[in-house]
Amino acid sequence: MNRLNWQRAVIKVGSALIAPNGDECSARFLLALARFITISRESGKEIILVSSGSVAAGRSKVKIRHNASIAEKQAMAAIGQTQMMANWQRFFDFPCAQVLLTADDLRDRTRYVNIKNTLRELLNHNALPIVNENDTVAVNELKVGDNDNLGAYTALVAQADTLIICSDIDGLYTADPRKDPDATLISEVHNIDESIYKLAGGAGTSVGTGGMRTKIEAADKCTSSGIQTIIVNGRKGASFDAMLNGSIPGTLFHASNSPKKARRLWLTHTLKTCGRIHVDEGAKAALVDRGASLLPSGITSIEGNFNQGEAVEICFEKQVIAKGLALYNARDLMLIKGKNSQHIADVLGYETTDVVVHRDDLVLL
Ligand code: GLU
Repeated sequence: MNRLNWQRAVIKVGSALIAPNGDECSARFLLALARFITISRESGKEIILVSSGSVAAGRSKVKIRHNASIAEKQAMAAIGQTQMMANWQRFFDFPCAQVLLTADDLRDRTRYVNIKNTLRELLNHNALPIVNENDTVAVNELKVGDNDNLGAYTALVAQADTLIICSDIDGLYTADPRKDPDATLISEVHNIDESIYKLAGGAGTSVGTGGMRTKIEAADKCTSSGIQTIIVNGRKGASFDAMLNGSIPGTLFHASNSPKKARRLWLTHTLKTCGRIHVDEGAKAALVDRGASLLPSGITSIEGNFNQGEAVEICFEKQVIAKGLALYNARDLMLIKGKNSQHIADVLGYETTDVVVHRDDLVLL
């Protein structure tokens, strides 16, 4: 029997739970989930929500008699997004924070780093980040397209250890349970291969965008990066009680590695470095002996012309000691090297963070 073990989760909630009638937000299926979020946070866990429902929530407010055009859907999303956020906020005493993303934001390195920093900051300040696709500006080609995959990208950028997809079905079945009475629930999946994709079939409810296929895609992205993924029936309060008790009520897709290990492998082997940062002995000791982040004060020189978010080698006396993602570009680092973090804003006119490479983005070699 698998036990549920997690510390930072992304919880994806589909339109079928937010706006079950397809035209307005409802609390009906969200109470049990809101309780789960509150209790989990009280026990020190971190949660980011990925919530659909803007288009569905705005539908009743935009009067049209034909199939909605793209612009009309974008208008619905603009109206519905605020309703959806307000619907969430009424469950919580802590602030809900709206984060709207497009596929382009996730592809662009600078924006990717900013998203990551913002999510980290929101969690530090005890807010509940609520992510959705920025439907108002994104046309199809620029979209992630469905919130299951958006949930996976969010889990990756936020370095979550778990993605929980709340659906209107109990999990992945051996066949479509709406058509085949012999279909049985698969409680765990160790390896997502073609046979698993074959089980997914087509789209699910008429309210949401995704079906089982996009959920498997999301699980595939996450598990290969060390993030376990769970599909549960969010319409059943019992699903959340079970998770609070440490059991897994739906389908668990096991992570192929621990998130730390997967990230280490990615940083060490996959990422190409674009430059070098040379550091002094004090910085070397802080990185190697104390597991600290790299600060500008310990930097002696910069090589290469890297951008913010790109990978760099960190060197001490010509020896590469670590590899990590730079939070400032090479040009700006030339200006702040050797300086105390509190002077970053004075020198550059802006400050992203007070560290140059965060320890979460750093591997010792
Ligand atoms: N972003 C869409 C919305 O808020 C939902 C997409 C999806 O459900 O996958 O309506």
